[in-house]
Amino acid sequence: MKNAVLFCLMICTLMGCKKYPSTGNNTPDDYNKRPTPIANKTEIKRPKNIILMIGDGMGLTQITAGMYANKNKLNLEEFKSIGLHKSYAYDNLITDSAAGATAFASGVKTYNGAVGVDPDTVAVKTILEEAEEYGLATGLVATSSIVHATPASFIAHAKKRKMYESIALDFLKTEIDFFVGGGKKYFDAREDGRDLLQELKSMGYMVNTYFDKDFRTINPISSKNFAYLTANAEPLPQRQGRSYLTSAVKKAPKFLKEHSDKGFFLMIEGSQIDWGGHANDSDYIITELIEFDKAIGDILDFAKKDGETLVIVTADHETGGFAINPGSTMDKIEPGFTSDYHTGVMIPVFAYGPSAEQFRGIYENTAIYDKMRAAFGFDQSSN
Ligand code: MG
Ligand code: ZN
Repeated sequence: MKNAVLFCLMICTLMGCKKYPSTGNNTPDDYNKRPTPIANKTEIKRPKNIILMIGDGMGLTQITAGMYANKNKLNLEEFKSIGLHKSYAYDNLITDSAAGATAFASGVKTYNGAVGVDPDTVAVKTILEEAEEYGLATGLVATSSIVHATPASFIAHAKKRKMYESIALDFLKTEIDFFVGGGKKYFDAREDGRDLLQELKSMGYMVNTYFDKDFRTINPISSKNFAYLTANAEPLPQRQGRSYLTSAVKKAPKFLKEHSDKGFFLMIEGSQIDWGGHANDSDYIITELIEFDKAIGDILDFAKKDGETLVIVTADHETGGFAINPGSTMDKIEPGFTSDYHTGVMIPVFAYGPSAEQFRGIYENTAIYDKMRAAFGFDQSSN
C-alpha cells in the first residue's frame, strides 16, 4: 500500500498534476472561488415535488397476490429504482403504523403508538411541516380516517395514536393545503364541543363532507385550502363501495401544483391493505391492493407529464405473515397467514422521477426521510 502511494506521488510529480493547489498563499476562500465545474452525469437531479405513497401493510406477498389477481400486471412494474427498508421500531422488532410513519415523516425510530414524537415523547418536526416552512404546498390523502396513525404522523404530535381528537386539532396548527380522508366526528362531534370544520372554514378552507356531495363532483378551487371528510369514522372497504381514492389522486397533485410555485409534498395512503391482513382475508387485501395500484398509475401519469415529481411507493410493514401456498394458481391463490398482526420482514421501496436512484439498496426506514429531505434540498443543519 505504502509503495503504491509513493508510486502515485512519483507519477503525479513527473506529470505535474496536482489534486489541489499547493498550500502556498492559497486560502480556503481561493478554493471557493475556483471555477464552477461543468455539470456531469453524476450530479443529482432534484425534484420540485414529492409524492410519497404508503400501502399500509403492503409486503411483497400482498403485491404479488394483487398482481396475479390483476391479470399478472401492476403499474408498480414501471418503477426501475427499487430498494428495501428495515421496518423495525425503537422498542420492538415489529413496528406499528404510528412508529413506521413517524420514521418516514421525521427520520426517527420511535416506540409503537407514537405519532410524530421521539422515544422521549418529544415532538419531532415532520417533512410536511418543514415543507410548509419552505413555502411548498402540502397534502394528505388516506382511505382510513385522516387522524389515523399513518396520515397523523405527518402532521400531528401525540404520545398515543388513539388521541384522535387531539390529532385533529393539530390539523389547524399547520397550513396544510389539501386533505381527504375519514374521521369527520373527530372534527365536529368532540368532547371539547369545538367544531373544527367551522374553524377550518373561518380559516379560509373550502370544507366538504360525504354529506354534501359525491367527491367526484366537487372541484377544489386553488385560491382556497381544501378539506374533504369522507366518512364519520372509518371509510368503507373498497369492495363495499368506497370510491373516492381515484378522484383524490387525480385532483390532489394538480391542485397542489397550482397552489404553490415552489413545489409540493403529498402523502397518499392505501390504508386498508393492512386491515385485510389483520382480518386474514386475502380478497380484502387483493381488492385494496389493486385499488392502490390504480392510484399509483394515476400518480405516475401525472409525474411523467410533470417531469419534476419524485414518486416513492412503500409500506410501513407487512401484515398477516401472508403467504401464497402450494396449490395456488394465478386465478385463485391459496392464502396462508402466520399472524393477525404485523410482521418484521423487509419492505420494498419503489421510486420514479428525479432522485429516484437514491432509493436503491437496503437501508433503515428512517433513511426514506433523509433521502426525501436531500432530494428537496432542505438545509441539512436545520433539523
Ligand atoms: Mg395506516
Ligand atoms: Zn396494522
